[in-house]
Amino acid sequence: MTPSSSSGTCHPGHIGDPALRGSWYEIDLGAIRHNYRQLRACLRPEVKIYACLKRNGYGCGAAAVAAALASEGAHGFAVASLLDAISMRNTGITGPILLYPGALPTAWPMIEALDLTISISSIEELERWRARRSNIRVFIKVDLGFFRAGATPREAVRLLALASACRDVRLEGVYAHLSELPTSKPSDATDQFTRMLAILKEAGARGIRPEVAMISSTESVLAHPEMDLDAVDPGALLVGLSEAAIPIRHLALRPALKTISTSLVAVKHVDASLGPVPEIPGFYAGMRLGVVNFGWGDGYPRKVPDKAQALIGGKRVRLLPPAHLEHLRVDLTEVPDARFGDQVVLLGRQCGEDITHEEVASLWGTDLVGLYGQLRDHVPRIYT
Ligand SMILES: *Cc1c(COP(=O)(O)O)cnc(C)c1O
Repeated sequence: MTPSSSSGTCHPGHIGDPALRGSWYEIDLGAIRHNYRQLRACLRPEVKIYACLKRNGYGCGAAAVAAALASEGAHGFAVASLLDAISMRNTGITGPILLYPGALPTAWPMIEALDLTISISSIEELERWRARRSNIRVFIKVDLGFFRAGATPREAVRLLALASACRDVRLEGVYAHLSELPTSKPSDATDQFTRMLAILKEAGARGIRPEVAMISSTESVLAHPEMDLDAVDPGALLVGLSEAAIPIRHLALRPALKTISTSLVAVKHVDASLGPVPEIPGFYAGMRLGVVNFGWGDGYPRKVPDKAQALIGGKRVRLLPPAHLEHLRVDLTEVPDARFGDQVVLLGRQCGEDITHEEVASLWGTDLVGLYGQLRDHVPRIYT
């Protein structure tokens, strides 16, 4: 218990305390530090790392992950949501934080107070932000062929020229997200890189090339070392995901998510007084039924997959449909000793048995990065 200094009463726990809920994610900050070091070791020393910690640090908690990476020497951070930037500043992160497109000028007082760098993709955006009548820190974003935010390569130099001519604009960088959509003639990473080099060359000739040019994230940092430029902004790599089909840099990455853990919050013998057994595969008269403290509101699929399993007492048990907002049912036939309060592992190891990331991603109908994207902010995290 933590005594409260103001009232003299005792707080029986804090809102992020796993004990209060019986469910948590175990996040391995050591793995994230390790992944960062692996990356750092293969970059030229002058290449800066802006750790991309969007979606609350890929579900791992942007603030805690940023603190770990800041102590490893990460130059800066990049997020799309202002909320993630706020949580990082609140834990004492002082380095540069780049906001990807996502913030609006209405949020300017917060952006100014937190000293964040904004992304600008068009002249209209530049003018709308300048109307705030303060000095703004800016990265110009370029779209090299991903058809998302960013100035087109044709517009990019004009935008750089305008921004660098404004005395109230601190033009710190120019960046792009090197990625592509399928087309009849795929424009590969090399084509996009060539477009960026042309922009940088023209900007250089006109004396308006910003200090930082950055295009490379997880896939290209692994597969295209020549694209490092001045800085890189990988995200998935830091939580241990290698997204390159044919990597040139072979990093031994470790997954950040160790377990998704929850608890058995009810156990009962299904007796005849309950009435007819539901006509759902997996239910049977006389079974031992458990209820687990985790539901579709916590990121579990709304429709329980046919092969869904969990670990209790080191054994695989079957999860039964339907899923509820905060509960799931489990068939306890394999674990007759299971009791109220026992730990239930949805991902990770328990007594030598293992439910892998790949298994869970496949059950949840997603891929590995999609699995991290499903992690919910209200589920407490334990850092190990
Ligand atoms: C998501 C994102 C990244 C990081 O991508 P990863 O594949 O996770 O490394 C970098 N830059 C931008 C603009 C992004 O949106």
